[in-house]
Amino acid sequence: MLPGLHHVTAFAGDAQTNLDFYTRVMGLRLIKRTVNFDDPGTYHFYFGDANGTPGTILTFFPWPAAPPGVAGAGQAAGVSFAVPKSSLEAWTDRLRKAGIPVTGPRTRFGEEFIAFHDPHGLPVELFASAPESANAPDDPSIVRLHSATLCEADPQRTFAALEDTLGFRYVSNEGDRTRFDVAGTPLDVVAMPGAGRAKPSAGSVHHIAWRVANREEQDEWRAKLVEAGLRVTRVIDRQYFRSIYFREPGGVLFEIATDGPGFFIDEINPGESLKLPPWLEPIRASIERRLAPLEAVR
Ligand code: ZN
Repeated sequence: MLPGLHHVTAFAGDAQTNLDFYTRVMGLRLIKRTVNFDDPGTYHFYFGDANGTPGTILTFFPWPAAPPGVAGAGQAAGVSFAVPKSSLEAWTDRLRKAGIPVTGPRTRFGEEFIAFHDPHGLPVELFASAPESANAPDDPSIVRLHSATLCEADPQRTFAALEDTLGFRYVSNEGDRTRFDVAGTPLDVVAMPGAGRAKPSAGSVHHIAWRVANREEQDEWRAKLVEAGLRVTRVIDRQYFRSIYFREPGGVLFEIATDGPGFFIDEINPGESLKLPPWLEPIRASIERRLAPLEAVR
């Protein structure tokens, strides 16, 4: 069984705005500042908890001149985090003070949540579903990713892949939303019959990544997905984890990423400096010239 989410990756606009919002307002730690290994002229920011724990990580490719994405079928809706049970009021205050309009609280499958858009239009939800911190009862900090939501024009094909191939279990329905679960992580499928395809750009999710413990498990998953007729990439070295990618039948890009080796392999204070994988170090100077300079990173 897949043990839950590893990370969610989305597109942003201006890099500095993205960095400031997720560190200063959302209180996440910048755990890695690198580039998109497939497009080294673009930053790749990783945010997460202090330890960069898989399951807490949200990453961005900032595209300074990107137009807003167009929502539609074949994409993940946004990002959902779990926060301590009594923290929604504190979050609403903090976000409004930062100029972010907030809606809710509303309830989904029995859990209260608030919703807003980040400065580049990415839909974000905060679910009051995590226990209070025993050490700091008033600490509203994000605890982990809560769930993922897929938007699908023809959800039946996705249901079949989730249950028959990927090991998800059906939970229940609420309106046009069908909930599945794997190892305690909810995955919702929202039916959008007749909807056009999403056009991903700033404020859109690029892919969602599921965890595996190690390479052996990843190899087993790869074989299983190939056998099920899905087109899966080779294993790709992402420096901090190893990845395979495939599209579920509705078109949403899924990744399966290993927990290790993790974000501490190349710096003691992750996020402090621009890190490049060994194969990009020889062209560091030209990469740095193409990237927008950033103000001090906390
Ligand atoms: Zn990824």
